[in-house]
Amino acid sequence: MLKKASGILLSVLLMVSCSQTGQNQNNDISQLNQDSTISSKSKFSKPNVILMESPNQNDRPSGVRPDTIILHHTASAAEAKNIGKFFQNPESKVSAHYTVDRTGYVVQSVDDSKRSWHAGKSQFQGRENVNDFSIGIEICNIGDNKDPYPDAEYDSIIKLVGYLMTQYNIPAKNITRHKDIALPAGRKDDTSESFSVQRVLNGVHELLNGTYKPTIKTEKALSYPDFREVKLDEKLNLKEIADSYLDAETRWEELLLLNPSLNEKSVLQSGTKIKLPLNFKYWEQLKK
Ligand SMILES: [Zn+2]
Repeated sequence: MLKKASGILLSVLLMVSCSQTGQNQNNDISQLNQDSTISSKSKFSKPNVILMESPNQNDRPSGVRPDTIILHHTASAAEAKNIGKFFQNPESKVSAHYTVDRTGYVVQSVDDSKRSWHAGKSQFQGRENVNDFSIGIEICNIGDNKDPYPDAEYDSIIKLVGYLMTQYNIPAKNITRHKDIALPAGRKDDTSESFSVQRVLNGVHELLNGTYKPTIKTEKALSYPDFREVKLDEKLNLKEIADSYLDAETRWEELLLLNPSLNEKSVLQSGTKIKLPLNFKYWEQLKK
């Protein structure tokens, strides 16, 4: 039975790989029968997590189970525990179910059965309020399209996504990115261009057929400055900048500390350069 079940899963995931190149749209794994789900569960135990429960959560609508996974980047140099700490502050008003660190450890902030606050105004497959039916995964990365996602980080994402897909019968076409579901379109840019969803799906596929070999090298710890500078590509006020570039509207006041020429009513034209925080130093200054 186990062999048969993994065979079904394998063929479904093969279809998924094809669909990424537009060859096949029939990639729904929701047709798995109950036995095969149980068998696949035995292959994918839940990865170890560090629990840091966030108050920024509420109940999912009655009867709704997660059927979608939204991938985010943290837009920060901070490690996952510091992101978890930010989610524990009620003033941040945001959270995600999981945060994956560059070194591979995983922080869980919200139970899968609850609704975490990661997607904001959003739509997926014609359904609004994606937080209602999704699981949010934050991936530590500064989000400049150049910052690499280390192998250890990919390895943990693959194991976590594989676990969630089999646990909740989530079809591979429902693994998506914040930038693909945010409203209005273009509001978000995560995950950055240097992240490959296909690599995650390939890894899950290999996990299922027993050929997965994590490529974990000893990598030099990356070091980051306290901020980075970006050139805005549209006209935005400070809350919109924090929402777009820091993935949390509530972080807008940090921009005032880093850019002393601005005030809370500033509206910046397209092409304006602005400094963005890469850690929580400024947030902590404000919240003292
Ligand atoms: Zn996001």
